[in-house]
Amino acid sequence: MHYSTQVRKEAREILQRRQSDATRACDARRAAALAKIPALADADRLIQSSAAAAIAALFNPGASTEDIVFARDTNLQAQAHEQALLRTGGFAEDAMLPHYSCPDCDDSGYLRHSNDGHNGQICACHRALLRDLEHARLARVFPLDQFTFSRFNLSFYPSNEQEFMRDVLDTCKKYAKTFSPKKGNLYFYGGAGLGKTHLSGAIINRVIERGFSVEYGSAPALLDALVKSRFDSRSDRSLEKALQTCDLLVLDDLGAEAANSATKEALYILVNARLLAHKPTIVSSNFTPQELAAQYDTRIASRLLYDHTTVIEFVGNDIRAQMNRRA
Ligand SMILES: [Zn+2]
Repeated sequence: MHYSTQVRKEAREILQRRQSDATRACDARRAAALAKIPALADADRLIQSSAAAAIAALFNPGASTEDIVFARDTNLQAQAHEQALLRTGGFAEDAMLPHYSCPDCDDSGYLRHSNDGHNGQICACHRALLRDLEHARLARVFPLDQFTFSRFNLSFYPSNEQEFMRDVLDTCKKYAKTFSPKKGNLYFYGGAGLGKTHLSGAIINRVIERGFSVEYGSAPALLDALVKSRFDSRSDRSLEKALQTCDLLVLDDLGAEAANSATKEALYILVNARLLAHKPTIVSSNFTPQELAAQYDTRIASRLLYDHTTVIEFVGNDIRAQMNRRA
């Protein structure tokens, strides 16, 4: 779950905002309740002091069971008294307490109060937030909602190719379902408009849903940006780092980039870093594996098509053209 610094920062900011919103709303409720019911101030003070006494008794080896029970009961009675005052004044019983969006972590994003060894672990609400932010980030550069498994239509393929493409679809579904950062690469090849980008997108959707980070880009744009950032001394290299460290990289349309020594070097550095870190990459290209090996040097081809790569050929006629005709 290697999310980018930006996604983690955005999640932290949202959690902090949730916490401060809850605190601010609580302060406003308390002020209103205290203004209407002056006796609440004493009740509130008793709750604080009896809670402190109960904790002190719990941690005091010299305290007897009676001491602990007494402190706890005093606190419970003080709470009940406060709740009764609030009810009488027309307030909710929990009006004096902050109402967090997540009761498990009080919107801190981390579990703190559990008795089952979860202290410090990331909370489910924080994970969901990271997933949503990752989805939103990718959706800005890629039409994620359009490219799902359920929208992959086999009827666009010639009838004699449908069985084959059904297997391709199943392989991709299985890859997405069992995805882990140690998974092997996928290499999609075939002509334009045969569904390579669609199935890449469907895998991205599922992999993000499962809580992994993804980077997507067309090879021409990504390699161009990488080359520019390498020659720009002011560059913070965040793009290069994100592409090298994300859980899944999807490199679309490899072979369409300007094939020069700078883009090839950038590609080599990228695929080598990912292979060394055992991070999977999905590549789609018009090149067959043999053409890939001929087009790029063996250092690149061997890393993209290493032992744990599943090579998938896409067949049929241009689906995009047919979809446009049917639309
Ligand atoms: Zn939470």
